[in-house]
Amino acid sequence: MKTITPEESRRLISEGGSQTHEQRMNVAQDRLRELVTFAKERSPYFKKAYGGIKENYRLADLPITTKSGLMENYEEWVTDPEIKLSELRNYLSDIKNIAELYLNRYTAITTSGTTGEPMPMVRDSYRNTIHGSLIETRLFRGLNPKDINPAVVKTASVITASGFVSSYSSALRMKHRLGEFSDNFEIFSLLTPIDELVERLNAHDPKLLTGYPSVLTVLAKEKLRGALKIEPRVIASSAEALSVKMFENLRQAFNCPVLNNYCSTEGGEIAMSCPYGHLHINEDWVLIEPVDDDGRPVKQGEWSSAVLMTDLTNYVQPIIRYHVNDCVRIIEQPCECGSNLPIIEISGRMGDALCFNEKIVAFLVLYCFLTEVCALLKWQLIQTAANTLEVRFTEADGADRTSVGAEVAEALKTSLKKYGCGDVDIVISDEDFIKAKGGKVPYVIQGSRT
Ligand SMILES: [Zn+2]
Repeated sequence: MKTITPEESRRLISEGGSQTHEQRMNVAQDRLRELVTFAKERSPYFKKAYGGIKENYRLADLPITTKSGLMENYEEWVTDPEIKLSELRNYLSDIKNIAELYLNRYTAITTSGTTGEPMPMVRDSYRNTIHGSLIETRLFRGLNPKDINPAVVKTASVITASGFVSSYSSALRMKHRLGEFSDNFEIFSLLTPIDELVERLNAHDPKLLTGYPSVLTVLAKEKLRGALKIEPRVIASSAEALSVKMFENLRQAFNCPVLNNYCSTEGGEIAMSCPYGHLHINEDWVLIEPVDDDGRPVKQGEWSSAVLMTDLTNYVQPIIRYHVNDCVRIIEQPCECGSNLPIIEISGRMGDALCFNEKIVAFLVLYCFLTEVCALLKWQLIQTAANTLEVRFTEADGADRTSVGAEVAEALKTSLKKYGCGDVDIVISDEDFIKAKGGKVPYVIQGSRT
């Protein structure tokens, strides 16, 4: 097992921050070669996949990996033969295990499942130390350490409060570690009806507020209209795209530093915001290749339809040229903050929201409402009037469309009412999805645009 001390990882990270792009790429190339050699030796999956790779390969010569391909070969993919998928699933199914390490040496979490079946990810201390130091060194730079320490300041985390989803399990671990200070740290489910959430946040009065951008944006509106009275010293958002506009809205509403971390359960800490709201890629540790529909690289500055990510720190479960559907673009422009790490922009569906009865419902909340309908495959919500929502959807193979539709209508009606939106009429439609430019299907549309 590869190991590193926190001091050494911090040293490497600050060294990387002061290098040129070329120097960093050389370091990243060395790290890639070491990871690929290890993966070839220890992972039967990569041994086979890299069988035809020549000695002087470049990143682009390595085959692309996908979630479904890796899931099908899970136990051949991981580099520790003691990791067994069924045992890992058992471990992950019991939230009491959150304080225990899997196989006494790994933390384990699962992807949120926004795209297909959740994938368990196992992480060793090498990977966790480096990603932890990236957060500390690059995301938290310039801040008063007290303001981000939940042992000192009251903290609120508004997240998906279920299972071993990355943000929830990190939050639970944090709460557990705080011991006698654990009351400082409150976890709020993002499904809490908005008025109740505001009330509970006011009562807790956090100085550090963390959550997903879509939900934080809703809270910013509550702050601006005076209902939310908290005065956080730092806001930290992660897991979804936070546009510069959303960033500015948060800054304006709360008048404090806003941190943003573009991360994924598979790829880790990909990019981090600077005080100017730009996301700088941690290109010395995570490689990002923006690609088109056919997996070919897009030109610099152009929007991609997907991203291939490589986490140079994950030796247990190598993520190498892993395909995710994020639309991004890398822009070459100097940043006012002084960092020369490249800037990435992310075009997310996550900023989408609907509004009923003056209650804003963030995309992620809508998404959570619908996860309980198991046979629902793909969906689109179109707000056609002030209190009318049309649903277009596809169902799983073999499912009865009429009953899936009825389940969707019931789930939305009940959840929206509970959330504080009043009575919303749900119209189940058999029409095809409305497509945006480029053929993408937006999850949420305000107003009929057939
Ligand atoms: Zn910057």
